[in-house]
Amino acid sequence: MGLRTMGSQSMTDANAELVATFEEWRPVLGYEGRYMISSSGKVMALERRDKAGKRWPAKEVAQFDSLGYRGVHLSDAHGKHRNVRVHVLLLEAFVGPRPPGFVACHWDDNRSNNDLANLRWDTPRANRLDATRNGRNKQTAITHCPQGHPLEGKNLEASVLRNKGHRRCRACGHETRTAWRQGRQFDKSRADARYRWYTS
Ligand SMILES: [Zn+2]
Repeated sequence: MGLRTMGSQSMTDANAELVATFEEWRPVLGYEGRYMISSSGKVMALERRDKAGKRWPAKEVAQFDSLGYRGVHLSDAHGKHRNVRVHVLLLEAFVGPRPPGFVACHWDDNRSNNDLANLRWDTPRANRLDATRNGRNKQTAITHCPQGHPLEGKNLEASVLRNKGHRRCRACGHETRTAWRQGRQFDKSRADARYRWYTS
């Protein structure tokens, strides 16, 4: 793509693409000169020579799963090996060492989302608040049933409290039970009518 031929819209797209693919690389704390880590959570082993003089080219370090977190196996100059979690390395490299008493937090609670923007050092209490907020959002984000009836007011199943906050469409629930009793298929138009009756 040439800059001269770009309209303003494609300039915007090009910028968005640049930002989306932009990665900054920094040395891994404690492994400077051996490993680098990128702002999107990739880890590279830098080119090195072993004691026999053999050259090992730079390569990306394979990541393994550790209870949902991403982990890497690192070795230091003395041949000591250690398994570490990638999000901790990211925070150490880009934010700074862990403040005393703080833990590494993922804003979205997705343990494998190691984009720098999703990570921070914070208190254990704040980490628990993340979990509460993210759990609540999963339920409140559902605003309509699959048939398009708003999940609010009189159209909520009375069992909402017993269902641990899982909200169900009362109109569709009624139609499902009635159809089953009458030995017929679920009828969307009857569910729609039931919804109007509840909310009129
Ligand atoms: Zn419904």
